[in-house]
Amino acid sequence: MARRGLLIILSSPSGAGKSTLAKRLMVWDTALSFSVSATTRQPRAGEVDGADYHFVTEPAFRKLVDDRGMLEHARVFDNYYGSPKAPVQTAIELGRDVLFDVDWQGAQQISNSDLQDAVLSIFILPPSITELHRRLVERGQDDPDTIDRRMQKSWDEISHWDGYDYVLVNDDLNTTEAQLRTIISAERLRRAQQPDLLDHVRTLQREFEER
Ligand code: ADP
Ligand code: 5GP
Repeated sequence: MARRGLLIILSSPSGAGKSTLAKRLMVWDTALSFSVSATTRQPRAGEVDGADYHFVTEPAFRKLVDDRGMLEHARVFDNYYGSPKAPVQTAIELGRDVLFDVDWQGAQQISNSDLQDAVLSIFILPPSITELHRRLVERGQDDPDTIDRRMQKSWDEISHWDGYDYVLVNDDLNTTEAQLRTIISAERLRRAQQPDLLDHVRTLQREFEER
């Protein structure tokens, strides 16, 4: 039966594990489509342009915004980030779910957009602030100054936890992944996500009355 695509938003303070979880979800369900954001920040070692992010200059970013090419955009940690609109519209029309790794500002903008009925928002909390710091250090991709700035900003992000549909504490990675799979599987079965249900029930009714 056909179903409507969901806009699945993952947010968390930097280092809580949302990119790792997003990658695992993409392996779990290869039909999920990841919204590749545009950003003006520099690529980290191992990041692939066009897969992790579209790495763009500030003028190129501004042009995308001015041309109304962004579903949402925000300034985070002194850089600009935004979700290009066109791939999201294509995926939704095909009934495919789109996964977003965006901050609370992006989550709020998508939740207030004309696609709000399709939004499923999930916030990921770290088990502790000490562990959050440990993960940022362990990731080994940011210099100490950047890690400090991300830690300072972490409370700003966490303070928006109660604007989300679901909130998970990412202690054990396998457990959190399993919880995410459960949430997504259940949300896909919501009545509103299955536009063909009404026709099916009418067919059942005809069959019932003709017996
Ligand atoms: P974010 O995308 O939220 O900034 P990452 O996914 O990059 O965070 O994760 C930060 C670091 O923490 C990575 O090195 C990742 O492997 C590690 N990590 C993520 N989740 C867990 C977890 N549940 N337990 C231990 N380490 C984790
Ligand atoms: P990072 O630089 O660690 O990849 O991402 C920093 C922050 O920016 C994270 O909180 C991440 O979720 C957020 N982010 C990434 N892409 C987007 C986007 O397209 N829009 C918004 N609003 N935030 C984003």
